[in-house]
Amino acid sequence: MSETRDKIQKEISAYVKNLDNVIKSTGLPVVNDQKTGNPIWVGVREITLRYQFPVKKVSKFFEGLKEGKLLATKCQKCGTIYFPPQDDCPKCRVSNLEWIEMPKEGEVIAFTVVNVKPTSFSHYSDYVVGIVRISNGVNVLGWIKGNNVKVGSKVKLEVVRREPEGYLTYVFNVV
Ligand SMILES: [Zn+2]
Repeated sequence: MSETRDKIQKEISAYVKNLDNVIKSTGLPVVNDQKTGNPIWVGVREITLRYQFPVKKVSKFFEGLKEGKLLATKCQKCGTIYFPPQDDCPKCRVSNLEWIEMPKEGEVIAFTVVNVKPTSFSHYSDYVVGIVRISNGVNVLGWIKGNNVKVGSKVKLEVVRREPEGYLTYVFNVV
């Protein structure tokens, strides 16, 4: 997992070094865009992004992942199942919803192949994101793994470690 990070770090270093040379020789961080050939100003600032959000009310969800389960919440009053899980039912205005385990079987109802990725996902190979209708009727958004993903493909949910981050998440494998 650190190999990917090293590779990205090397690419950035090479880019910045090249830019430094341009600045040295011309006095400006202006280079010709590789696609259009037009001059572009390049500003480079290294930032480390750290973000946090409270998860106390849904901490059971993470406990579930550790056990290989995908958990949702269910309103005991109206029966609505919430995924991603939430602690409140806005319809009934009640809290402390019941935790339930999602079944592992589902069917792809929509998907897309992501080949133009957001910067924070640029280190991944092209991936498939889709909406899976779980056998209990709840739609879940997630990554879909396997060749030849189609609408109607049967999939099975699996909890895995996503590299290079190494954290637990769920994916749908085409069966
Ligand atoms: Zn409700």
